[in-house]
Amino acid sequence: MKEFALLRQNPDFIYFDSAATCQVPDAVLQAYTAYYQQHHANVHRASHQLGRAATTALEQARTALADFIGANAENVTLQASTTAALNGLAQQLPIDWQAGDEILLSAAEHHANILPWQRLAQLHDLKLRYIPIDRQTGELGAWQHLLNARTRVVSVTAASNVTGAIFDIQPLLQAAREQGAITIVDAAQIAAHSDINIASWHCDALIFSAHKVYGLNGCAVTYLAPQLWSVMAPFQVGGGIVQQVTETTATWIDSIHKFEAGSPNTGAAVAAAAGVNWLQQQQPHARLTQLRALLVQHLHAREWLSVLPSGTAHTPTVAFYSDNFQAYDIAAWLDQHNIAVRAGHHCAQVLLQHWQLPAVVRVSLGAYNTADQINRFIETLDAGWALFGSD
Ligand code: PMP
Repeated sequence: MKEFALLRQNPDFIYFDSAATCQVPDAVLQAYTAYYQQHHANVHRASHQLGRAATTALEQARTALADFIGANAENVTLQASTTAALNGLAQQLPIDWQAGDEILLSAAEHHANILPWQRLAQLHDLKLRYIPIDRQTGELGAWQHLLNARTRVVSVTAASNVTGAIFDIQPLLQAAREQGAITIVDAAQIAAHSDINIASWHCDALIFSAHKVYGLNGCAVTYLAPQLWSVMAPFQVGGGIVQQVTETTATWIDSIHKFEAGSPNTGAAVAAAAGVNWLQQQQPHARLTQLRALLVQHLHAREWLSVLPSGTAHTPTVAFYSDNFQAYDIAAWLDQHNIAVRAGHHCAQVLLQHWQLPAVVRVSLGAYNTADQINRFIETLDAGWALFGSD
């Protein structure tokens, strides 16, 4: 807590919305400020010292972020967000789409990993298929019968942003690849909570946003396998990515930098590297696992609440609902007591439709949360129940 200016200023405030975005440690803000105070210039094209310093800062950040997932920097592009990267991929995958080709997703996808594919499906008359999420266990359901010769892309999240379940997607990715499908992993929810070693993931692309790993907005680490990026056209076109431009044609540079047209967000990249560095030093995983267990235990003990199932492995995120109260009313009550949770569909309307739930309350923990905060949260829920629920 003491390393987070926003939380320091208001010690009574409880922030339980880290799955949406993490609060930022001082070390990250300092790295960001230091970049702008000491090294800031535009990169790559610079013929002066400061431009070279900025280029070094960007490339060092890229290397640190690539290391974080066990990848080579040559295969990592920094995009503005997970949303931007998924849109870029959907538009540029090197596939000669035929009507009736299939894209396989899970029902737990964030809208960022549904809508770009929906758009593509409408354009080329493709079929979207969804792997169900088991309502009893919260695990990824059977997918074997959904994978077939028409499946061209499998794009799945590694963890639910609603329930916190970590899905066993590796067998799916491996089988999909063996079928010749392109495999994409939305790692936005898992990156802060599990060590990722890209070599064991069987994926052609893997993406996560830095603001969910204690960095800032404006940077998403996007791993692209060399066999994919080398044959894929840039997501956007513009300065810094061309070999040659004529009045009517252009040729692209032969490196992953071709996905970074225009002036890059070097400050956000530097901050992202500082964020993962901070996370690696803190290693909050074991403590957060205990805190989540405490939270779930308390929630289960309250008959008026139903906790969504989240399988056997989970991020420190939990969702619940009540038949007695609207999710939005629970969140508003907590907000009145200085506790920030999120209510709604969490940009995962397909999951909530499958499970026939209108809205749920989500509590998502971060490195700054404590057992005392969980106790105060539960006391506040109980106080609400005593006031409004028990008649
Ligand atoms: N996928 C998942 C699983 C997410 O949780 C989120 C963020 N809520 C996104 C994608 C989108 O990330 P961003 O808003 O940083 O683009």
